[in-house]
Amino acid sequence: MNKYETIIGLEIHLQLNTKSKMFCACSNKGEKAKVNTTICPICLGHPGTLPTLNALAVQKGLALSLALNCQINIKSKFDRKNYFYPDLPKGYQISQFDIPLAEGGHLLITLNDQEKRIGIERLHLEEDAAKNIHQKDKTLIDYNRGGMPLAEIVTKPDFRKVEETTEFLKNLRLIAQYLNISDAEMEKGNLRCDANISLRPQGDNKLYPKTEIKNLNSFKAVVKALKYEKERQKDLWEKSSAPQMTSTRGWDEEKKETREQRIKESFADYRYFPEPDLPPLLISAELLKEVKSSLPELPQERYYRFREEFGLSKKDTAVLINKKDWAEYFEKVISELRAWLFKVNKGKYNWSKEKIKLSKLTFSWITSELFSLLKDNFLMKKLKITPENMAELIKLIYEQKINSSAGQTILAKMFKSGLDPSDLAEELDLRQIDDEEELAGLVIKVIMSNSEQVQEYKDGKEAIFKFLVGKVMAESKGKGHPQKIAKILKEKLT
Ligand code: ZN
Ligand code: MN
Repeated sequence: MNKYETIIGLEIHLQLNTKSKMFCACSNKGEKAKVNTTICPICLGHPGTLPTLNALAVQKGLALSLALNCQINIKSKFDRKNYFYPDLPKGYQISQFDIPLAEGGHLLITLNDQEKRIGIERLHLEEDAAKNIHQKDKTLIDYNRGGMPLAEIVTKPDFRKVEETTEFLKNLRLIAQYLNISDAEMEKGNLRCDANISLRPQGDNKLYPKTEIKNLNSFKAVVKALKYEKERQKDLWEKSSAPQMTSTRGWDEEKKETREQRIKESFADYRYFPEPDLPPLLISAELLKEVKSSLPELPQERYYRFREEFGLSKKDTAVLINKKDWAEYFEKVISELRAWLFKVNKGKYNWSKEKIKLSKLTFSWITSELFSLLKDNFLMKKLKITPENMAELIKLIYEQKINSSAGQTILAKMFKSGLDPSDLAEELDLRQIDDEEELAGLVIKVIMSNSEQVQEYKDGKEAIFKFLVGKVMAESKGKGHPQKIAKILKEKLT
């Protein structure tokens, strides 16, 4: 057992994908727009301007709070967090201090098949600061980011393993994507994370001064930085010189180390005080009801439903759930297939019997065959293959009207053109040959022209059988029904 227990908490900033900024009408495009173009006197902090709260940002914040099982504060307020930095032209950030939008939630994560509950301390709304762009001899500032809406999520110090943090972040990202409140991509900066870490001797219940690690731009950086910091603090404990004060360290991606930045300000240093230009934030019962009722199915709910309905393995189900759009596509394809089965069996069919076979087939044709045709950053809305056509292709394969190599050819054509797979099979002459007489003709032809091999097989060289099947398949131009060929060949050889 480890001598020390690791205590980790996360502070996460999530950029909300509203149309306009938090307190002004500027476009919320941020870094996607030309630098310093989505700005106005309000987000530049000119004197005499007044902020107006973005109602959609509040709704998105509420949706996330509910998804994270938080208590909503019906009455919260905004506060000024004062500090001086060039990326903050007002000299303060409008945030929420003592009464956040929501608090006391939790999120369940699963690591190595074990479920763990991570507490959410609070969720509040605030505005983003501008972005510093450091160059060799100067720092440039892009004010586009200043004033963009953020939800800040602070977890309880419930993580005990570094891997739990990335599992949590991945879950959070997925929830944000399902809720359509943020792209939540660390690499793009719309999900940013600071991690607090401290150690304590096993069995001790006290919390010791922590280190806050900043500048974590990817899941990998989170893991590497926390592992580094855990070792660094362990060494300090072993030398009896554990950190005496909370401090801030930056992660240096190149040197792969954390470096001390500053001894952390306490709350008092920020001189928080209520924002005089904004009224308290009141959440009406109607608004709360509306947000609650428009919550979509969340990833964990969908996971359990998919497991139940489609009978895929845990791993395959997770693959689908982790790609929201593809999970929905998969479901549409399956529903087409069910409708088809219902029709051909005149309403009498046993879905629970067929579902495993059809789900597996559909899963593999989507995630291995179709995915292999996609380039990086493929946009789902550009997909030309409708769920109906995809289902049609699966059906052709399922009914063995085409074999799988023909299926691949057809899929590639469908991907380019969006054409109907049955038409393509016809046009490309790829329909599987399953007519036994026709196949028997091919088998006889092969037996006649390979008498030497046939003799070897008859003498007991079993491996020759495969060779002969291959010959018949080639004779059929790849269109022969493989099981039927094998069956007929066996009959003719005995
Ligand atoms: Zn503005
Ligand atoms: Mn913040």
